[in-house]
Amino acid sequence: MRDAQFFRRWMTVAAAAVEREADRLTELDSPIGDADHGSNLLRGFTAVRAALEADSAASPGAVLTLAGRTLISTVGGASGPLYGTLLRRTGKELGEAAEVSDDALRKALYAGVGAVAQLGGAAPGDKTMLDALVPAVAELGTSYRAAADAAENGARATVPMLARKGRASYLGERSIGHQDPGATSAALLLGALADVAEA
Ligand code: ADP
Ligand code: MG
Ligand code: MG
Repeated sequence: MRDAQFFRRWMTVAAAAVEREADRLTELDSPIGDADHGSNLLRGFTAVRAALEADSAASPGAVLTLAGRTLISTVGGASGPLYGTLLRRTGKELGEAAEVSDDALRKALYAGVGAVAQLGGAAPGDKTMLDALVPAVAELGTSYRAAADAAENGARATVPMLARKGRASYLGERSIGHQDPGATSAALLLGALADVAEA
């Protein structure tokens, strides 16, 4: 079973990964975006870390809901509302239980990813974060590491894709040949989850 502390650690490790990789995320967002993905997420996850430190959120659902709400209110770019929705919806699915099973988390994340697809109107193949998130949740039944690997492979698979959503879609054919920054950060989040689950 996974308690609130597990989810706090996930957010802390995710924040550290975003901090470490912020420059790379911004570089990826430069040819096919507006070069702010790293700084957007750095601002967002720094705020998530502070919000969690200041709050006594004591259930998995409360931790993820607070994290999601914080991302929505601090990140101006498309990724803020999208990742915010992912975490908020996942948290809502987990309810108020003090501990949740891996199976409950798998189902909740599946619903969270569905909410991202609904909000952004994107599907796998559109060269977005969903190209990492969708294969990852499909592998969660295997293991957290398998899900993280699927996200990583999904992010790499965005390179030859033509962007159909978000800023990158304005470039049309010129979006081909670049890895999507949001799919790359999604792989970081799943990697952080696997790290925390294996610790
Ligand atoms: P912005 O594009 O507003 O500057 P970011 O740079 O922070 O925001 O985030 C860009 C990322 O958001 C993209 O790489 C893509 O993965 C993701 N994204 C953009 N639009 C959508 C959408 N409609 N659905 C899913 N993901 C999206
Ligand atoms: Mg951007
Ligand atoms: Mg922007």
